[in-house]
Amino acid sequence: MNVLVINCGSSSLKYQLIDMTNEEVRAKGLAERIGIEGSRIKHTTIGKEQVIIEEPMKDHKKALELVLKALVDENYGAIKSMDDIYAVGHRVVHGGEEFASSTIIDDKVMEALNACIELAPLHNPPNIMGIEACKELMPNTPMVAVFDTAFHQTIPPENYMYPLPYEYYDKYKIRKYGFHGTSHKYVSLRAAEILGKPIEEINIITCHLGNGASVCAIQGGKSIDTSMGFTPLEGLAMGTRCGDIDPAIIPFLMEKEGLSFDEINNVLNKKSGVLGISGLSSDFRDLEEAAENGNERALLALKVFCNRVKEYIGAYSALLCNVDAVVFTAGIGENSPTVRYHICEGLDCINIKLDPELNSKVRGEEAIVSKDLTSVPVLVVPTNEELMIARDTVELVKK
Ligand code: ADP
Repeated sequence: MNVLVINCGSSSLKYQLIDMTNEEVRAKGLAERIGIEGSRIKHTTIGKEQVIIEEPMKDHKKALELVLKALVDENYGAIKSMDDIYAVGHRVVHGGEEFASSTIIDDKVMEALNACIELAPLHNPPNIMGIEACKELMPNTPMVAVFDTAFHQTIPPENYMYPLPYEYYDKYKIRKYGFHGTSHKYVSLRAAEILGKPIEEINIITCHLGNGASVCAIQGGKSIDTSMGFTPLEGLAMGTRCGDIDPAIIPFLMEKEGLSFDEINNVLNKKSGVLGISGLSSDFRDLEEAAENGNERALLALKVFCNRVKEYIGAYSALLCNVDAVVFTAGIGENSPTVRYHICEGLDCINIKLDPELNSKVRGEEAIVSKDLTSVPVLVVPTNEELMIARDTVELVKK
């Protein structure tokens, strides 16, 4: 039973074909530079060599057409025909207040998705393009939408309301939504399994630290707060995003630098975060290397990043009272012992104690890296959003 998982960006289409009888990936790839010159697909069927397909792709439909062709190709494909695809699961960034869980895609859902565009003007349109391309090319295959925001719909109003005039919530639905929900859910479930405890009975703080980064407070399996907000700009300092800043800085800078709305948006989203502070890179491998070689601003950027995560862990410990586990995931969380070490440094006061020896060895694998059995377990759990999307897809289609 193969599920095709699709994640569309503005000029890219990431895909995985997962056999859900054993949850193993059969093929995966990335179509990039869609609508731009030099478009290509990097396709890998597991057990075969990667192929690069260079062909013009004017839109997501053309890209998907080529992806499907690659999947059934006699030489480098993974399946015989498109009938071997049981269902398609689509990642959708923003489901607004409409979607508190994944859903089978029908005309009504498409309408609701279009209504959410205003909330995520950069992310939702490509997600919708991907769904539309699939509907045209595979009209008889069931499709499911899985939302980054859905997991956070359990956040109570006292945690999602901004202290702004209430009318803006009524008029524009301005509130905290939160993102990375699929990842926070997956790693929290996995952590509960690893610890051998029912998810309903434990509290977990999950730290998804990638280019985009967020922390989530999970009580009995339900998100009760998260660091990203109305958009993925709030919260932690990220690769290129500023996270929490005094909002008064925005009009101040616009006036001083003569910046337009688009320009200030670009500064906050693309030129800030650890890239902004270091002036060097948004990639943590570059920053760690530079810091080791004495680059002070790279070191400062790393310190700011780690301190922010520490602050959120502290805040969410207060919110949850009892913390049964802290989980690190995504590119940085899974692969950087240094970042994990500095985040946990000094958290002994809330019984979070990393074992430096154990921690230093863990990269990209599941492990417990805390000191002893009396302290809060700290875990590294590689995220798997695609598998989570495929699981939801099968569950809904079977129903
Ligand atoms: P996204 O999916 O948001 O693009 P990822 O979860 O792939 O992000 O994470 C990308 C980040 O992970 C980059 O900043 C990269 O530097 C970091 N990263 C990957 N491998 C390592 C490593 N070995 N050490 C430190 N950082 C790493």
